Amino acid sequence: MSEELSNEVLEILVCTKCSSELNYFKDKNKLVCKKCNKEFKVENGIPNMVSD
Ligand SMILES: [Zn+2]
Repeated sequence: MSEELSNEVLEILVCTKCSSELNYFKDKNKLVCKKCNKEFKVENGIPNMVSD
């Protein structure tokens, strides 16, 4: 069971759009930027940081 992001990973991730910190919603498997609210999916514990 390693489908959740670790705190270490979460700490180094920033929004690809505005470089702000991200909030992690475990129940929805997504990251949301604290500043611009851009969303990033987390699939199998791996954040998809590719912006569309
Ligand atoms: Zn952002």
